Amino acid sequence: MIVVMQPDAGETPIAAVEAKIRAEGLGVHVSRGTERTLIGAIGDERKLSPAMFETLPGVERAMHILKPYKLVAREWHKASTIVRVRGIPIGGEAVQMIAGPCSVETEPQMRAAAAAAAAGGARLMRGGAFKPRTSPYAFQGAGLEGLKLLKDAAARYGLPIVTELMDVRMLDTFLREGVDVIQIGTRNMQNFDLLKEVGKVDVPVVLKRGMSAAIGEWLMAAEYIAAGGNHRIVLCERGIRTFETAYRNVLDVTAIPMLKRETHLPVIVDPSHAGGKAWLVSALASAAVAAGADGLLVEIHPNPPQAWCDADQALTPAEFAALMRKLSAVAEAVGRTLGGAEGPRVEPAQREDLPIG
Ligand code: PEP
Ligand code: MN
Repeated sequence: MIVVMQPDAGETPIAAVEAKIRAEGLGVHVSRGTERTLIGAIGDERKLSPAMFETLPGVERAMHILKPYKLVAREWHKASTIVRVRGIPIGGEAVQMIAGPCSVETEPQMRAAAAAAAAGGARLMRGGAFKPRTSPYAFQGAGLEGLKLLKDAAARYGLPIVTELMDVRMLDTFLREGVDVIQIGTRNMQNFDLLKEVGKVDVPVVLKRGMSAAIGEWLMAAEYIAAGGNHRIVLCERGIRTFETAYRNVLDVTAIPMLKRETHLPVIVDPSHAGGKAWLVSALASAAVAAGADGLLVEIHPNPPQAWCDADQALTPAEFAALMRKLSAVAEAVGRTLGGAEGPRVEPAQREDLPIG
């Protein structure tokens, strides 16, 4: 059973709902979001009925949820959730592009990448400062210095930043530095302690799919974040492991409509890590938008052969600009727009557009 409180419900009505659930011998889980509080009853729900709660003050509605994931289930929240990042909507009519390099390298690289992202029409910028690498001897990321480079480069074009958090000990630093969107990578999708911690903060989270995670496991991972009170979650399909070795991962396009049915959360797609090759990105990105993705996360680099990480899959600025033109048409064909008009477009502090090409 989930009890949805009215947005302005105070502590007294919340306590009354809790007491009523406990009186029936069930446990209580309270998820205090920025918009509203959701109260879950844990245990044998057959003792409860929605009518027991819907007459209490401050209660908007109550319902049984049959799915194992509750707060993220579309079963209770029919409308699609729109996650706003500094006013930029993810999950609405617009399809949002998040672009940037795999990893933050140097100041000139980041400035050129930010210029290319903005010139192509991306509304957010990505860049890894803390990298989860298969080899301990590979470049591990530029760390805090890298985070600052990402921030500075993106700020020139008013682009909010998306960057991966691997270690819970860095969360305070991310908050202090004003990271706009916390990315949880494929390797950490089931790092439950990390999920619990990002569940406590009021910063949007991009939750990437574990490389071998089933849809149900992925949604339960999202539920961990929502249960902590952070309801600003964006799911990101990035390809899964199969028997196929001809490409890096298999983009699970089927997951997009399936997730749209199962959850109210926005769904974006990372075609770069799915295909692992730059030449595959355009086809996979187009398929994703056609299948209903709410956004894309794409790796670009001013000089891909020189990239310190994931060089094979990075698009050049020119390739990125061409991709955006193509995606505009695909988005239009499915009744959406690329980027949309909503949300502030901050005037770049200092335009330094580099030649695209
Ligand atoms: C990334 O986005 O840079 C990344 C490491 O992706 P994933 O977690 O999907 O492998
Ligand atoms: Mn990468």
